[in-house]
This record gives sequence, C-alpha cells and structure tokens, in this order.
Amino acid sequence: MEDEIHFNDSNLSWDNISSELKKSLDKDTFQNWIKPIAFESYQNNILSLSVPTRFLRDWIIKNYAPVIKRICLDEGSSIEILKIIVKEKNKRIIPGTEAIYQEKDEEEDTYYDDISAPLDPKCTFDNFIVGKPNELAYAAAQRVAESEVVSFNPLFLYGGVGLGKTHLMHAVAWAIKKRSPKKNVVYLTAEKFMYQFIKALRFKNIMSFKEQFRTVDVLMIDDVQFIIGKDNTQEEFFHTFNTLVDKKRQIIISADKSPADLEGLEDRLKSRLGWGLVADIHPLTYELRLGILQSKAEQKQLTLSPEVLEFLANKITNNVREMEGALNRLAVHASLHQSEITVEMVKDVLKDLLRTNSRKITIDEIQKKVTEHYNIRLSDMHSPRRSRSIARPRQVAMYLAKSITTRSLPEIGRKFGGRDHTTVIHAIKTIEEIMVNDPSLAEDIEILTRILQTS
Ligand code: ADP
Ligand code: MG
Repeated sequence: MEDEIHFNDSNLSWDNISSELKKSLDKDTFQNWIKPIAFESYQNNILSLSVPTRFLRDWIIKNYAPVIKRICLDEGSSIEILKIIVKEKNKRIIPGTEAIYQEKDEEEDTYYDDISAPLDPKCTFDNFIVGKPNELAYAAAQRVAESEVVSFNPLFLYGGVGLGKTHLMHAVAWAIKKRSPKKNVVYLTAEKFMYQFIKALRFKNIMSFKEQFRTVDVLMIDDVQFIIGKDNTQEEFFHTFNTLVDKKRQIIISADKSPADLEGLEDRLKSRLGWGLVADIHPLTYELRLGILQSKAEQKQLTLSPEVLEFLANKITNNVREMEGALNRLAVHASLHQSEITVEMVKDVLKDLLRTNSRKITIDEIQKKVTEHYNIRLSDMHSPRRSRSIARPRQVAMYLAKSITTRSLPEIGRKFGGRDHTTVIHAIKTIEEIMVNDPSLAEDIEILTRILQTS
C-alpha cells in the first residue's frame, strides 16, 4: 500500500485524507467510491491518484475531488491540482485517461458549481428598472448586497411570474461577488435543491450534501413554492435554513406568494420564512412598463417611436418577460424588413401576444363611453327607439362590442335591450359600410377604441 507516503509540504498522507473522508461519508459510500482510490504521487502541488475504472474516475472528479482538495488544504498542504488516472488491475496506466480537477482561482471556486446555478450576466442592479411596484424589493435587495452584516434574515421576495424576482437575486449575487470575491454566494432554485437532495439520498452522501451548504455565506433559493408538498425536501431545507441563520449567513428566498399564503408549506417553515423582511413586487404600472420598454429597446438598439412604445405599454401588461419577447420579435421583424416599426406593424407581428394581454373590456364600459362621446343617455343603448341620432351610436357600440370583446353576437344583443343577434350582425355591417365612405365615423371608432383600451 502506498498509504504511508507523505506529502512534501505537510504531514498529510493519503491515509489522513481517506480517514477524514470516512468521517463524513457513510460506510457504503466510502467503500464504493473512496476505498478503490490509490495514491500515486504528490509533486509540484499536483496530487495524483489512480482508480481502476473510467467511471470511478469521473464520479470522483465530479463528486469528491472538491472535498479531497479541501481536506488537503485544511490540513496545511498547498495543493493546486488534483489528477486522477485510470489504472488497470495489473497496475498498467491506461494512456489518455488522465482527468484533472482544478479550481480556476479563488474567485471562481468550482467546489460549489454543483449546487450553485449559473448567474445571468444581464441580471444586474444597473439593468433593473425601478418603479413604484418594485421599489421596496429593489431597495431591500440592494441593502442586502451592500451591508457587511446580515440585516434581515431571510429577505423574502415574492410576486407574480416575470416580475423580476430572479433578476434581483442574481443582481445581489453579482454585487456581492464583485465586492467580496471570496464570499461563497450560492444561488439555486428550490427545484434544484430538491434534485440535489434526492441525489444525495440515493447515493447515500447526505453528509457531503450538508457539507456543501455549511460554508455558504449567502444562500439564495428561488421559487421556494416548488417544495410545497415535498415533505423530506422541506425538512432538509428547514435544517439548512436554520443552520445558516444560526451562523448569521444571509439567506434570500423567492416565491410566488407571501410566506403566509404558501398553502401546504409546513407551519414552522412558513413562520420562519416571515421572520426577516418580506418584500413584494406588485403588478407593473403603466409608467414602469413604459420605462422598461424604453430601456430594453435601447439595449437592443431598436428604435421605437413614442406611439409604438405607448401602444406596447398599454397592451402588454402581464410581465416583463412578455415585453422582452415582444421586443425581440419586433427587432427580428425590423431587421428582416428593413422598415420602420409602426403601430400597425406591431399589431400584426404581435397578434397572438396582444390577444392574451387584452384587458377584459366590458360591454357596459363600451356603452358608457359611446354615450358620453355622442352625448346621449345610457338608457338609449337599451331602448327600442330607432331615430338615427340614437340608432347610429347604438350600432357603433355593438360594433365595438364585437371588435374588442370576446362576447358572442347573442350576448351582445341581450346587452342592448334584448335585441336579436341578427340585429347585431346588421349593425356591424352597417358600420363597416359607412366607415368606408365616412372618415369621421372611422375616426370616431378609432378614438373610442383607443379610449376603451387605454382606460
Ligand atoms: P421572476 O423571477 O419574477 O419570474 P424574472 O426575474 O425572471 O422574473 O424576470 C423576467 C425577465 O424580465 C428577465 O429577463 C428580467 O431581466 C426582466 N425584468 C424583470 N423585471 C425587470 C425590471 N424591473 N427591469 C428590467 N428587467 C426586468
Ligand atoms: Mg424566477
């Protein structure tokens, strides 16, 4: 056995390393993965180990190399590279089987690559547009990113889909990494947390799973609603959470609802999550939508007229992701057709998107606006009177009801004093015909449509 060979720069031996590993792994895991490892050499800060199969090599590089290296460092060696080669039973080295584990540098400690998900370079504080709906969440995130001590634990961000929760978490991670490169910032989704946990259970290395979180300085778990109903994962999450809070490590959590509203989450976890600062991101206001559209269009070097920007801000109201999607499509369209982007073109290119975003305009609203516009009484919408001064606006209202709501013809008829659907069809046809030769009616329709869609 080569176990006795001593390292050049410390009193560490493979024996020591493996007995350290033995402490944190269960018996089977140790037997299966660590026992087959043999020491080869330690020179120029390169530790070489060998194993009998390629599979074993890959497994160790992926799962144990970081731990092995850490143990070496903890024991005072100055190891830089860990090398694993494949050696057959007869001790012949198989050429080309060398695999290397090397951390790039202190800043990018690959030890945690396995649990931390990559960060989107675009998601920084600089790129985050602030408005009323998200100012609290933004300020809280900045505070966490800037302060040396843990100010509130956890910071809990919640809000609907595509409103910037993940963006803010990444922004915090980037800011901390920039300010304190040594800090171990881990960002992952609750789903990934569960996946890692289950994997650890399956391969019986719960200890190393726990170990991974032990040295985390800032832990961010995104979309925590995912672990609702997943009891074991919830339990483990609760422990991880408490351990880190006890050690005064910062935790940031996001979810689609407030802690209290996360139905199905264990009560103790619910209450624990609400201990720090709970900040919600509200649905976007028109002003914020406009601001985000302007900035994103600029980033994409897409020139949009104020009319187009306003149109989009009015129409795409659900979330920022859809706004980005819309801008991307317009950018592609504009570059393919080399033409200026007009509202008409936007309507056409984004037909489907606009449909799902259309605000539910009611027939009552239409009737109200039309009567105001033509200065008639609301009751005239339902009355049987057929004088032109009343019948025409009524037809306009029916036409609008058909063009901007999803109501059926009979439903529309009923709303206009119980008229038959054929009356509605007649009204629509009449308006369409008149519009062709009467620009003022066409204009009325356009103004009314705009008023209804933007109010
Ligand atoms: P969530 O995690 O809340 O579902 P994301 O953070 O993934 O939402 O946001 C969706 C997209 O919208 C991302 O591309 C993000 O960069 C962008 N985004 C969201 N809010 C803003 C904002 N206030 N300013 C700029 N971009 C934003
Ligand atoms: Mg998200």
